[in-house]
Order: sequence, then C-alpha cells, then structure tokens
Amino acid sequence: MNLDHILKELAGDHQELKIMEVCGTHTSSIFKNGIRSLLSPKIRLISGPGCPVCVTPASYIDKAIEWAMTPNYVLLTFGDMMKVPGSEKSLSEAKADGARVEIMYSPQEALKKAAANPELTYVIACVGFETTIPSYALVIEQTERSGLTNIKFLTALRRVMPALDFICATDNEISAFIAPGHVSTILGSQAYAGLTEQYMKPFAVAGFEGEHILIAIYDLVKQVENHKHEVHNLYPSVVKPEGNAVALAYINNYFESGQAFWRGIGVIEDSGLYLNQKYRKYDAGSADLAGDTAQKTTNCRCGEVILGKINPDECPMFGKVCTPAKAQGPCMVSSEGTCGIWFRFTRK
Ligand code: SF4
Repeated sequence: MNLDHILKELAGDHQELKIMEVCGTHTSSIFKNGIRSLLSPKIRLISGPGCPVCVTPASYIDKAIEWAMTPNYVLLTFGDMMKVPGSEKSLSEAKADGARVEIMYSPQEALKKAAANPELTYVIACVGFETTIPSYALVIEQTERSGLTNIKFLTALRRVMPALDFICATDNEISAFIAPGHVSTILGSQAYAGLTEQYMKPFAVAGFEGEHILIAIYDLVKQVENHKHEVHNLYPSVVKPEGNAVALAYINNYFESGQAFWRGIGVIEDSGLYLNQKYRKYDAGSADLAGDTAQKTTNCRCGEVILGKINPDECPMFGKVCTPAKAQGPCMVSSEGTCGIWFRFTRK
C-alpha cells in the first residue's frame, strides 16, 4: 500500500471517527507533520493521558517541596516537573524561596551525589509510566548494592493500561486508539488484546514518523469501517508482542500496584505503582499520597484535555492567561503535555 493511496483514502469521505493518540510524542509528531490537515474533517484526532507529568497530583508537588525545604535534604527532579503547579506553588517557585531542588538528567546521578555528600539525603522525584519505571528500579537496585542509606524515592508512577481501561469504560465515542509507542516497547503489543476484546475498539501500535502515524490512522479507519477490533503492531522492528521481559521483571521485582489519583481525572484503581514491602524503606512518603484526592479548584481544564473531551483551544485560558511561560495547569508545562504542544505548533 503506497502512501499516496493512503493519503487519498484518508482525505476522502468517511463516517465520523474519533481516534485517540495516547502518547504526547505522537501528538507532537502529528502537529510537526501537519497530519490533521491531511485528514477528512470527519476523522478527528484527540489526545490522551500519555503525559505522566500532566497527571501528577498537586499533593505530590507539595510533598516534594516539603522534602526540599527540610534541612539536609535535597530534591532531585527532571526539569519538566519544575513549573508544575502544586497547591500553593511550583518547585521552581519553592526553589526561589530557598528550597533545595536540583535538576537531574538521570536518576543515577543520585548515587554519586549521595556518596560524595553523606550528610545530605537525596530524594529522587520519580514520575513516569512503564517506559521510565525500569530506570528507577535500576537505581533502587544500585542503591541497595551500594549500601547508601541517604537516597529516597518519592514516586508518582502510573500504569497506562488501567487508564486506558478507564477511558474505554467511560467514553463510548472513541472509535479507536493509536497505542502509546514508548510504553508499548515495554508492555508489548499483546497488552492491548484484552481491551480490544472487552470494548471492541481497535488498537494500532505505531512509530513516531509522520508516515508511521498515517499508516496507523489508515489501519484504524479500515478496521472501524470493516467492524473489526484487533491489535495491529505496525512498529514490529521496535515493539515485540510480549514486550521487554527484562524491563517488566524489574518493574515487578521492585513495585506493587495500588490505587492512584490522576490529576484532573480522579482515582483509578490499580493504576499506581509503589515500592513493595521489601524496598519500602527507600520510600519518601509516596504510599501516603495514594488515597489523597485533594484537588485545588481551578479553572484549568487539563482533566478534559487529557481524556480527549476538549481540545486545548477550547479552554478559555489557552494562550491568554495560560502559556508555557505562565502555565495554569500541567498540560501546558510538560514537553509531552497536549496544551503545550498545541501552543508551540498553533501559535505564531
Ligand atoms: Fe489547563 Fe492551561 Fe491547558 Fe487550560 S490551557 S487546560 S488552563 S493547562
């Protein structure tokens, strides 16, 4: 099937279709390649909850700030967490107020820092989906081996499958899904088989080039129009049906699942991962946040954006009071956040 044929087909007449791309990297590529403009107006692409920073609760930011303000404690975080609003302030604002926050490029930096500064305790802000969770597990393993006692892990780790299950169960309008690419490398394409079966929605696992995404959309459109609901792995060079056994073993060895609160969405059962009993001694209070559903009332509509109910430009604050420089919600902050991606690609 050549690309010209696919483009012609996708621009042609279709039934109304809503296809969710779950992952922020796909959203970014869709904009970069102008894919929306190539589709029939009846094929609507909506973005999903594939940005871990966007769903991290305000109470987690508050807890991170609490550690950073504690004498002899240092919070290590990736840069995209810095501007995420907590209940009162962001990590960036807390740092300006004297909190000890350092940006890391890899969680492994904690090992060197902790060995060099035994008087300080390093709390690693661990936020992510299955893609990044094995790297945190590796640092726990190395911490255990090293005998260092001044490293702690503050986790907001989320499992994608329960979130997709939640979306399938609560939104009948979504016709099909472009599966999250990076997460699929860990979980494997067969991880979606249960959802296709239960909810009769097709899934396509796609790469990140424009062409990959167009082929996935074409595949999904054809599946829906032919009343099929299968998982098609269109990225077999990278994604295996069974996933990455080593990474999965790391996740299972160090973490156990439990309920978790997703900012803007609510509690999703079994969607969080927490250090298991054997390694709980390294936890910096993450498990205590599991049932914390407190949410500051704001006009931010990230929850609706994440669930594909509205586009970012339907939020009255988009591009006006909410910009990447002065974000009102996490979806505008992160490089994978839908509002931030829309802002970068649609604003001159
Ligand atoms: Fe929230 Fe800003 Fe997005 Fe509106 S534009 S939903 S305020 S992040």
